[in-house]
Amino acid sequence: MKRIYLVTVLICIIMLFTSCTINEDVSKNAVVEEQVLASGSEDSNYVELNRVKDNIWVHTTYTNYNGYRTPSNGLVIETSDGLVMIDTPWNNEQTKELIKLTKDTFNKDFSLAVITHAHEDRIGGIDALLDNKIDVRSTMLTAELAEENGYKKPTPSLDSDPNIKIGDVAIEVFYPGEGHSADNIVVWLPNDRVLFGGCIIKDLNSEGLGSTTDANIQQWPISLNKLLEKYSDADVVIPGHGKWGDIGLIKHTLELLKQ
Ligand SMILES: [Zn+2]
Repeated sequence: MKRIYLVTVLICIIMLFTSCTINEDVSKNAVVEEQVLASGSEDSNYVELNRVKDNIWVHTTYTNYNGYRTPSNGLVIETSDGLVMIDTPWNNEQTKELIKLTKDTFNKDFSLAVITHAHEDRIGGIDALLDNKIDVRSTMLTAELAEENGYKKPTPSLDSDPNIKIGDVAIEVFYPGEGHSADNIVVWLPNDRVLFGGCIIKDLNSEGLGSTTDANIQQWPISLNKLLEKYSDADVVIPGHGKWGDIGLIKHTLELLKQ
């Protein structure tokens, strides 16, 4: 009798566990279908997350840039050892909102951030990262330019340590040469073949090169051709602003440079 009772209890526990697992899968799928998360009430603190791979999200924020409402992209990568941010939103308020949204969503903290060049749309939220004791890294040149541009300095470790392994995710940074800026680097995620190009790559809707104040127009195509060669098998290519796609974005940017 005691034995039957034990078996019944065991079956109940297994059924309960199975139903919990199913429920969890359903809620996870709901997020995958939607693929968009958002937080914040107005542009000053609004942040959006769009899923591009299982564990890779594009974060997008907006600001009034030279009179135009301008979106900007960075990445959030979920790893088994915390979250990684590639570039901050435009400002600290949006960056705080992104930290809050990701904490609510993934129940994880950022353990690392990478800055791809020292402009407002990449580094504008660095104070929020440093206040949260997040390890922020860049190249030596970006750290120097950050200081010149009035931002706090990231740790300049990427020149000597460009390949990062964090939890189950590999992150490789590469400097293709000057382009949009003297210091622009790209981030390659080999596991998913995702290339975060940042501002050296324009989206397909761009009819111009955007801000060229710090650009090197002669060198830019040479740097892009290096990217085309090195990352010809990229599955997703993400520009600094606008919609992501495939390596067609690099070819489009090369066309813009011919004009
Ligand atoms: Zn820039």
